[in-house]
Amino acid sequence: MRAQSAFSESPSSLAARGFRNPLHAFARIQRPWLWAAGAPALGREDRARATFSLNPPRLLTQHTARDGATKLLVEVDAGDRVEAVHMPRAVSGGRVTLCVSSQVGCAMGCTFCATASMGFGRHLLAHEIVGQVLTSVHALGPRHPGDLTLVFMGMGEPLHNLGEVARALGLLCDPAGLGLSARRITVSTSGLVPEIAELGALEPRPLLAISINATTDEQRSALMPIGRRYPLSVLRSALERFPLRSRERITVEYVLLAGINDSAADARRLSAFCASFPHHINLIPFNEHRNTEFRAPSEAAVDAFARALLAERRSVLTVRRSRGRDVGAACGQLVLG
Ligand code: SF4
Repeated sequence: MRAQSAFSESPSSLAARGFRNPLHAFARIQRPWLWAAGAPALGREDRARATFSLNPPRLLTQHTARDGATKLLVEVDAGDRVEAVHMPRAVSGGRVTLCVSSQVGCAMGCTFCATASMGFGRHLLAHEIVGQVLTSVHALGPRHPGDLTLVFMGMGEPLHNLGEVARALGLLCDPAGLGLSARRITVSTSGLVPEIAELGALEPRPLLAISINATTDEQRSALMPIGRRYPLSVLRSALERFPLRSRERITVEYVLLAGINDSAADARRLSAFCASFPHHINLIPFNEHRNTEFRAPSEAAVDAFARALLAERRSVLTVRRSRGRDVGAACGQLVLG
């Protein structure tokens, strides 16, 4: 049975419960800067109608890295724990990127990923995803939703849990509450093809990121078991069909693993793979962790790969220097314990 939580309530469900001013109550729940004593503060009459819990997920620990990124350990329902990463953007005032989890553990089994070593625990429910966001924002900001960018790149494969992720997006984007813009939310997938189409049909529809990491089916299947179900040609067709707004691009994430996928031939194949859809490539030098034998590429190898990609003249490219490495909060490092 679903837990009854304030964070799954919408203005219409509050109206159905007899709340006299459901928009006001929804705002008191969804806007963490209106909370008091770490939880939504409803008026006396509304509290009497609230048969749901007002307790947000509990923030258990927070560790801030030298670069300002903070790894948050959040307790959701039934004592389960997930991690979020709060990354202030130094060059743009109070702006923050918050990386959130959609599952406890992950079922996808990518061989380079620390989360995969936990196995699959369970899907988070929408109210746990919403609560994770609001608890993180309550603790560390920002103070204005326009300064918040949300990325579903924490623990879990969000498209494996698309129903609950979509419900959470609906609540987080509701202008009566936090009012996030869907253009400031990115959902990253390892490549669940049918669900990519479903994501494209959502309203509000977030931005899409695809975690590619390999340029041949053989190599990708070895790194990411999902590659056996959906070959690169099938995945590319899904990306070509994904509906994009004007000037929008699909983010292509490529984790560079030393000696595995960082050759000039890999760069050329990656460029060719992306040629048929608007894209932006995000190169992510691997972050080493204790659950893997994979190694980080040298700076020279990263530069050589980037130069080989740019020589193909097809791609906008960034190299993501991961945040929070010294507290295990960088990409692919999220694992409990
Ligand atoms: S990389 Fe993403 S999809 Fe793959 S195992 Fe890790 S969390 Fe899951």
